[in-house]
Formats: sequence, C-alpha cells, structure tokens
Amino acid sequence: MINPLTILVVTVLSSAMSMAVLGSLWRAVIPGVGYWISASAVAIVALLAFVSQGHASPWLGIVAANELLAVSLLLVVEGCARFLGRRTRPWAAYAGALAVLFCIIYWTFTVPDFNARVTVVSAYHALLYAMLAVMMVRHRPANRPRYSYYFLAVAALLLGVGHASRGIFYGFGLVLQSNLLQVSPSNVAFLALGILATPSLSIGVVMLAHDRLAERLERLANVDELTGALSRRAFLAAGDALLNAARRTRSPMTMAIIDIDSFKAVNDRYGHAAGDQVLSHFAAFVAGNLRVGDVFGRLGGEEFGVLCPATTAAEAVSLLDRLRVQLASAAPVELPRGLKYTFSVGVDQHRRDELLAQLMARADGALYAAKASGRDRVMTA
Ligand code: GH3
Ligand code: MG
Ligand code: MG
Repeated sequence: MINPLTILVVTVLSSAMSMAVLGSLWRAVIPGVGYWISASAVAIVALLAFVSQGHASPWLGIVAANELLAVSLLLVVEGCARFLGRRTRPWAAYAGALAVLFCIIYWTFTVPDFNARVTVVSAYHALLYAMLAVMMVRHRPANRPRYSYYFLAVAALLLGVGHASRGIFYGFGLVLQSNLLQVSPSNVAFLALGILATPSLSIGVVMLAHDRLAERLERLANVDELTGALSRRAFLAAGDALLNAARRTRSPMTMAIIDIDSFKAVNDRYGHAAGDQVLSHFAAFVAGNLRVGDVFGRLGGEEFGVLCPATTAAEAVSLLDRLRVQLASAAPVELPRGLKYTFSVGVDQHRRDELLAQLMARADGALYAAKASGRDRVMTA
C-alpha cells in the first residue's frame, strides 16, 4: 500500500513545483500572487513538520504542522480575495485559524485526542474550501471567460467535501487511529486527497493569473489608453459583427464619424497636454451619452466613430445634434479655463449588402461636407 510518508514527500515536491510555477508570475504584479507563493512555502514547512512526527517534539510535529497547513490554505483564500479585488479581509477565517490553534494545543497536551484534532482541522479546511468556492462563483469578473474561475470553484468544492467527510469519519469515531503516519486504508485515502490539493489549487490560481494577463493584453490591443474608447482595430471588428447582425435581422444600423473642430489650434493655444484633456473629456462625454449596444471607438488622432445598431440615420443625427448643442452651451469645467471646443459629424445608414468600408466612406464624405460648410454641425451623406 502507498505509505503516508511517501504521500507527504510527494506533496512536498508538488508544492515546491507550484512555488516555482507561481514564481514565474511574480514579476507580472498580479494581486494575490505573493499570497499564493507564500502559501506553497508555508505548506512545504508544514508537511516537513508532519514528517518529523514521532521523532521531534509534538509542538513541531503536531501543533506547528497542523496550524501551518491551515494557514497555508488561508493564504490561498486570502490571495484569491486580493486577486478578485475584495476590499475586506476574511477576518472570520483568521479568527478560525487562531481557534484551531487552541484546539490543537488542547487536544495534544491537555486532553490528548487524535480524532478530535483531526475533526477540528478538517472542519476548518472544509470551511475554507467552501469559502473559496463561493467567492470564485460570486465574485468572478462578469466579462471574463468562466473556465478558470469555475475550475477553482469545483476543485475547492471537491476538496471541501473530502475534508468534511474526513471530519465526519473521525468525529464520529468511525476510524480509530492514533497518529497521522499510521498505514490504514482510510488514512491513506484521506492523505491522498492532500496530494491532489496542492496541484489542483495551484493550477487553478495559475489559470486565474493567466486570465488576468490575457485581459491586460486584450485591453492593450482593444482599448485606446488615453480615451478609454475602442481602438480602431477593435472598433472595426465590432462594426463587422454589428453589420452582420443587422443584415440577418434586416434592422437598420447607422455609423457616425466625429472629428473635433480646429483641434490643431487647441494644441497650439493651450498645449498638447490640454489637447489630450480635450480628447479624454470628449470620449467620456460621448460614451456617457450612448445607449447600451452602441459602439464607440477612436479612429485616430481627434477622429472618433460611433456605430448605432437598430438606429436610423435620422435618429442618430438627432442624438448627435443634441450632444453638439449640449457641448456648445458651456465650457466644460474639467478643462483649462475658457477652453471650449466643437465637433463635426458625418452620418449615414447602412445599405443592404454593402461592406463596412463602403458605409464608412460615405459617413466620411458627410463629415468632409460638414467641415466644408463651416464646422460645428451634423450632416448626412
Ligand atoms: P479640422 O477642424 O479641419 O478638423 O481641423 P483640425 O485642426 O482639428 O484638424 P487637423 O487634422 O489639421 O489637426 C489634427 C491635430 O490633432 C493634429 C495633431 O497634432 C493633433 N493630434 C492628433 N492626435 C493627438 C493626440 O493624441 N493628442 C493631442 N494633444 N493632439 C493630437
Ligand atoms: Mg479636427
Ligand atoms: Mg481629423
């Protein structure tokens, strides 16, 4: 039969591997990674302390070993809370770790009771796993693929069930055992659960970290840093998707190209930094006034695009003209004193079976006409 000692050694090695893998993410500065690395380190110390059981003081082999293993899982949970941007620390879990410490000391020295010890330690692990599973499902970011979050939730759930049954087995005296390293089928089965815990948790958290890295890269590629609007590439991709949908549902779709008027003069008069402020003010102003489903992107420089699904050209013109009038009514307080700006818009509606580029060329023509006829106006093709 597999020996408990072998299991502990394998788990130590797998924790060391986890540490090495998590270490590769250290420089990415992802919240939680520090906690996860520390968790592996603490787990290694705890497992080595378990190995010393019977050879060294019970303070090391029993008290420190159990408490450190509990703390290691607590650190995983805390890391996940940081990763998900939770503000509050899981204080109840910290208090639980302290309570577990007192229980272990009591059932080791005052009233020695192996089963009671195992029960309380297992119960604590089961609760932490349940917390972790619930946190992953409830607080996962809504806009990210679910896979890695659910992977960790399911792993935590299974490990939690394992620990809960271990607690029940020992709590009700269904297993008679006097020390951790004893070779018995039930003990080996429960310890084997421990082998699975480290790799599945670390695979889970590594997947979370990779999802965060993917999100950063997607953001870099798809979102314009200065204005928060979609990049040109992402805008055109979203435009193609909307166009296909409009074709399928035979619903109208309208495109507007917006260009800030005499922007070069803003830069020349107030400086490039003020020009940047105008760009981000404009983007926030427009984005704040669009409907859910509308797509807004920065096409380049001070030129922006808006795509409005299920919208006719006349409706888009009235929306944009309302924005134009609103902006012209007062100098925005966010900008340097007295800085006012206007914009011109070219609008046109999608015609059946045309490409996005054709629609865009017509909207651009309308924008050119708006500029030519004096700026600060909205025109259709
Ligand atoms: P028009 O009314 O005809 O559109 O005139 P305009 O001055 O707005 O147009 P023009 O194309 O001549 O000038 C655009 C200016 O926008 C030139 C460029 O330096 C400036 N610009 C482009 N990107 C940025 C940016 O990211 N920040 C700042 N501050 N200026 C930018
Ligand atoms: Mg301009
Ligand atoms: Mg321009």
